[in-house]
Amino acid sequence: MEYDPTLPWYRRLHWQVLSAMILGLGVGWAFGLPAANAIGWIGELFMKLLRMIIVPLVLTSIVSGVASVGGGRAIGRLFGKTMGYYVLSSMLAALTGLLMVNLIRPGQNADMGAAAQQEVPELSTPDSAVDLILDIVPNNFFAAASAGDMLAIIFFCIVFGAAITGLPEKPRVVVTDIFNAFFQAMMALTSGIIKFLPIGVFALITKMVGETGFDRFAALAKYFATIGSGLTIHLFITMPLLLIVLGRIKPLVHFANLREPLLTAFSTSSSGATLPVTIKTLREKVGVSNKVSSFVLPMGATVNMDGTAIFECAGALFIAQVLGVDLTIGQQAIVVLTALLASIGAAAVPSAGVVVIFIVLNAIGLGDNPEAITIVGAMLAIDRPLDMYRTAVNVFSDSCGAAIIARSEGEEGVDTEVRH
Ligand code: ASP
Repeated sequence: MEYDPTLPWYRRLHWQVLSAMILGLGVGWAFGLPAANAIGWIGELFMKLLRMIIVPLVLTSIVSGVASVGGGRAIGRLFGKTMGYYVLSSMLAALTGLLMVNLIRPGQNADMGAAAQQEVPELSTPDSAVDLILDIVPNNFFAAASAGDMLAIIFFCIVFGAAITGLPEKPRVVVTDIFNAFFQAMMALTSGIIKFLPIGVFALITKMVGETGFDRFAALAKYFATIGSGLTIHLFITMPLLLIVLGRIKPLVHFANLREPLLTAFSTSSSGATLPVTIKTLREKVGVSNKVSSFVLPMGATVNMDGTAIFECAGALFIAQVLGVDLTIGQQAIVVLTALLASIGAAAVPSAGVVVIFIVLNAIGLGDNPEAITIVGAMLAIDRPLDMYRTAVNVFSDSCGAAIIARSEGEEGVDTEVRH
């Protein structure tokens, strides 16, 4: 969308989305469950529209992006920078979680009985590093694509894009042009769907508020404060510092350009469903090339989850505190590392972070503890607001990574101004 300074505020998408959020909050609060039941399906429909475009969008974006990188060396460099950024930002996030748990000590005197319990769903995450590697390579690309298996899809697209760069000129230009054209078509479709963002957000927020009883949150106020302050520090201190130091980017400009993905992440609680909005924004508002955004964003949505890393670390230590288990420094270091692994293993869908917390609990011998399982159930019951916030942090970190790496690749137009 071209910037039009004469457009009144109420026709600007982010104001529409923000107003829809406030309206949803009011309607959900005033009419409760009946409103959630009546309107909830519209939110689900919107989520389906977003999910519908993820696989073809990621496929065309990565293949056309990687094919334009030009040769194996350049691809290797981009890959190295991307991995380096993921590890750095997620590690800082997990350490922030560790710090906040030790400062606030939310597990002391927590009243777990007052938080409703919920069945904990089966854990379907690879539990060893070898499994993770085997899972990345698909047996059959089409089966992976139809199952929405993101890491396998991404792997295939990167090697396919790399293969294109080695072709003789004629076929290389033909295939690259075809994927570029399909990518543009997918972006046009994405733009069409994003026009419905305010309606989708209104329905999602109405459903969330209408279905949630707020009394049970009070008992776990300190737990909320711990995770919430960890997320806030990461979002408003650590990330801006990384933007300034590594990318020479003004954080306020980046925040302003990121309004729509942040609001979408907040409303959908899914980095995956937000991905189309993230890709569009990074290209059109932040000004990152397809080469970099196609590399950093789809993979980031799947593996780079800073908000989730904070949650895994602080959440597992919270459980240990409630159970009165004292952890040594060595054990706390294990928690930080496994929190990082768990955040990589978490799927980009709502509440995935709660389920994978067992990876961390297993590492400190609490995975089979019945009381720990009950606490995880309570955490799941009240997870939605925290999930909204950590998903926004997850998406923000991916966007910062893309902007920083684009700057390091010499892209000058990144975040030079706020683009509407
Ligand atoms: N909902 C988060 C996301 O999609 C994952 C989580 O539950 O931590 O990014």
